Amino acid sequence: MTALVLDGKKLAREMEVELSTRVQEIKRRTNGVTPVLATILVGDDPSSATYVKMKGNACQRIGMESLRVVLPQATTTDELLSEIDELNSDPRVKGILLQHPVPSQIDERKCFDRIALEKDVDGVTVLGFGAMAMNEPAYGSATPVGIMALLQHYGIGIEGKHAVVVGRSPILGKPIAMMLLNANATVTICHSKTQTLSKLVGLADIVVGAVGKPQFIKGSWIKAGAVVIDAGYHPDGIGDIELSAVIEKCSAYTPVPGG
Ligand code: NAP
Repeated sequence: MTALVLDGKKLAREMEVELSTRVQEIKRRTNGVTPVLATILVGDDPSSATYVKMKGNACQRIGMESLRVVLPQATTTDELLSEIDELNSDPRVKGILLQHPVPSQIDERKCFDRIALEKDVDGVTVLGFGAMAMNEPAYGSATPVGIMALLQHYGIGIEGKHAVVVGRSPILGKPIAMMLLNANATVTICHSKTQTLSKLVGLADIVVGAVGKPQFIKGSWIKAGAVVIDAGYHPDGIGDIELSAVIEKCSAYTPVPGG
């Protein structure tokens, strides 16, 4: 079987053309005011630094301004909350992305929920996530929205399929599970306490790897013909799924990098 390559980079380039036009339109309507996307990076996790850099670069490409807030590893919850307050009250800032995960001494849920709902462009507040989960108008979390766009773009059927999501983080596993459920998949969510993980993955028509461990999901677990979505990215250019062992038998997959 020759698997379909779900080329996220290509789709992103197409979406950026459309987004550039929309940004130009906003600027025209607001007498040249450039909308600002703020990113907050706390600490020195290399993957997080890469994601934040990519978000800033994407802003530039579509004509938005990127405001990068970088805070030290030892930042406290109160310090982070006051940074978020500042961005909430800055009228130039239209969206705020607090990069997950934050260092363990920080109350991430409290900080996510401090983001003004109208600026919660990553769907991380309880209300933003809740609205998305209820299929109400809301910004969904960015990577899951990207995954859904990719599936739709390539005409991958979701309704009635069994989707197995490995991971339940607030920015990836949980929101993609809700989006797949809203698209009428039957969804199984797995996490670090899940038993018989390999068997559950083996039942999947659609597998989403969002574990954060290099090639943790083995190719041998995945059934022939499955659609394989690898959300992971590790510095050596591999994801959370052992893709080399699955390309021959799956029906479609996201390459890493590039998915
Ligand atoms: P995360 O917050 O560390 O969450 C990892 C999830 O994997 C947790 O829900 C955890 O379960 C689960 N897990 C850990 N060990 C497991 C095991 N042995 N068996 C089954 N599940 C296990 O990671 P994340 O931020 O969602 O990122 C996941 C991947 O996506 C990473 O490779 C990351 O680089 C990539 N990614 C991240 C972002 C981002 O902006 N952060 C964006 C795109 C892609 P518990 O809940 O039980 O601990």
